[in-house]
Amino acid sequence: MSLAATDKRRTSRRKAQHSSRSDYGGQLVDSQGDAARDGASANPRVLHVAIPTPLRRLFDYRPVGPAPAQGWQPGLRVKVPFGRRQLVGIVVGASDESDWPLDQLKPIAAHLDDAPLPEDWQWLCRFTARYYQHSLGDTLHHALPGPLRQGRPLEARTRERWELATTLDSAQSRLARAPRQRELIALVAQHRQGVVTSAITAQGFTRAQLQALLDKQLVTRTEEPVTAGEPWQAPLTAEPSLSLNREQSTALAALHEGLDRFHPCLLHGVTGSGKTEVYLQLIEGVLGHGRQALVLVPEIGLTPQTLARFRKRFRVPVVALHSGLTDLERLDAWEAARSGRAPIVIGTRSAIFTPLARPGVIIVDEEHDGSFKQQDGLRYHARDLAIARAHHESIPILLGSATPSLESLAQARSGRYRHLRLTQRASRHAPAKLELVDLRGRLRQGGLIPPVIDAIRQALAAEGQVLVFINRRGFAPTLGCHECGWIAECRHCDSRMTLHRHPPRLVCHHCEHQAPQPDACPACGSADLRPLGAGTERTEETLSTLFPDTPVYRIDRDSTRRKEAFDALLTDIRRGTPSLLVGTQMLAKGHHLPHVTLVVVVNADAGLYASDFRALEQSAQLLIQVAGRAGRAERPGRVLVQTLHPDDPNLRLLADSGYDALAYQLLEERRLAALPPFRHLALARFEAASESDANDAAGAAGEVMRAWLVERELPVHCLGPVPAPMERRQNRYHIQLMLSGERRSALHEASAWLAGWLESNATRKVRWSLDIDPMTLS
Ligand code: ADP
Ligand code: ZN
Ligand code: ZN
Repeated sequence: MSLAATDKRRTSRRKAQHSSRSDYGGQLVDSQGDAARDGASANPRVLHVAIPTPLRRLFDYRPVGPAPAQGWQPGLRVKVPFGRRQLVGIVVGASDESDWPLDQLKPIAAHLDDAPLPEDWQWLCRFTARYYQHSLGDTLHHALPGPLRQGRPLEARTRERWELATTLDSAQSRLARAPRQRELIALVAQHRQGVVTSAITAQGFTRAQLQALLDKQLVTRTEEPVTAGEPWQAPLTAEPSLSLNREQSTALAALHEGLDRFHPCLLHGVTGSGKTEVYLQLIEGVLGHGRQALVLVPEIGLTPQTLARFRKRFRVPVVALHSGLTDLERLDAWEAARSGRAPIVIGTRSAIFTPLARPGVIIVDEEHDGSFKQQDGLRYHARDLAIARAHHESIPILLGSATPSLESLAQARSGRYRHLRLTQRASRHAPAKLELVDLRGRLRQGGLIPPVIDAIRQALAAEGQVLVFINRRGFAPTLGCHECGWIAECRHCDSRMTLHRHPPRLVCHHCEHQAPQPDACPACGSADLRPLGAGTERTEETLSTLFPDTPVYRIDRDSTRRKEAFDALLTDIRRGTPSLLVGTQMLAKGHHLPHVTLVVVVNADAGLYASDFRALEQSAQLLIQVAGRAGRAERPGRVLVQTLHPDDPNLRLLADSGYDALAYQLLEERRLAALPPFRHLALARFEAASESDANDAAGAAGEVMRAWLVERELPVHCLGPVPAPMERRQNRYHIQLMLSGERRSALHEASAWLAGWLESNATRKVRWSLDIDPMTLS
């Protein structure tokens, strides 16, 4: 390298006031991980620190002040000056070398930890950053509970536990003249294991009264972590487990056999076949070996019902990680898992980043569910990370689903995952078959045709509940002019606006733009504006008119904005009075609705001819999940599926032969079309306020990418630029570039190079992102 070039590098770095540990480009991602292997050093001169910025590089600082108790090593949080701010970063390596003159390195402001963050957690973050081409600093930041991100010390919050220090009689005799304290000591005495302060203040006593008893030495006080529970020892369960049927026993035996190694299994069982019971008994076995279990569930699946089921079974604490937690509660849960005090951790997507002291198994329930993939920022897939993590930790991983993703199915078929089948329902009734109902040429009321309305009437007359599934909230998908064909379109997006009734307005579901409902057609002035199609509100309205004596519950994002409202609705529904439930997938997935005997799918056609390559798979999964709500308890169920394409071969195959038959056929089609899981994809998305800026950026990237691929002779295709399926969203233009490769390693190399190139070459006008293994191409 010439002197001039070196100087230039130095100057540009000086501007940033930091030193980067490595140049941009392909090696950079590796360098994010390599540094970690530098390991601990007693007196290093340089700390390589990951900082929460999108830049995929490390920053070098000088260690100052007293060294942490365990030395300078990867995983320590440090506070560092960054620009004009101070940020919390994480040491990734320590050494005596920097690309930057050592005397010009800035010193850290402080170290925040004496011991590093958990090693398993660090490993997962490094893997994630590398695999998803994301900044390590950002990834570490994302994977930490809020308080740790802000620099709070990593120690369990404590609470006080109060216990009787003497006999109740002698205590009370000493409190003859303090009636309130007498009551209080009686309350404490009721709890042989002691009682925590919050439980006492909840009864109207004060902390001062407790202190008074302590001063008189009538009670003792101990401090304990807030998440402490019963001691973790046998018996682990609080209720007997069910005796398993043959298929369940076979599955459980296979699982028990692989407890001490990486053992990926797909538990492929029809809805209601008792997968959860298998999870529970597997966890019991894992806990019996003194190990912890991590259970991931879809966003929609972490219901109070699910938790109740786990908590009822086990005597040990079940820690739940969900969006309803406060930052501090999240930290408590994290700490309990890290320290090993929490034997069972259940959470949604981000719970994959929970450290475990003694990991024993990871279970991913409804592994096909789209909510496991984060769709912005760090675009990771929690199921895929779970597999990588289980492999790294040499523990079993169980993926469960009635409708496995084609990815997992392909792995199971090839023998890389053990394929465990449950074909029988635990209750008497097999899952109902889908009955296709031809919509063509039929008059619809609220989206429903007369024979379906008759079937609803019969089901209600037989004291059943009816679930009407319609994946559109609002009154109608859009509003149109009967005179000239005008359609209400969003001003900011390439999309139509949805008509809502309460209150009346048009809403764009892509950008939330709202407009008043027009009285006359903006194009021709005609007053003949009509709602086109049906949404949940319209179907609800129609059903209320048709069945005035039956309660109609509408369950969608609008009717359940408050969680309590949703819970109240579910409680009502579970009482079992004949009623109509109109809902989107919020209702159709995950909930156990024992009294539903008829399921109606208002329109099955959305996924049939969609352009996205996963649309059909996802829509088949949804249909089967919805259908699975019927006949879960004593009575058999029926599923009516309305469609304009009753002869569509895919829909027919699904209805006649079930999900597996369709899935295997779709796999064959994917193979022929060279799509995942037979090829791997990475999608680069570009967006800008001007169409040409977005296009130019994507075009330029495509050109250099292709040239690089040719030069390196890498077997990776680069397609595009092409406009996204919805090109204009919120007045921004979206253009894409797609990389595809048969070998993951080649695709990885190419996407790492592209990310590096974009990082140094994209202009500020364009926002870009890279999505590895994208779930949708939109
Ligand atoms: P899945 O998770 O596959 O949908 P669940 O585990 O929720 O199925 O089981 C469905 C119903 O069957 C539940 O009410 C459950 O208690 C019951 N069940 C599961 N396994 C058994 C069994 N071995 N014996 C009796 N009932 C069972
Ligand atoms: Zn008109
Ligand atoms: Zn819009």
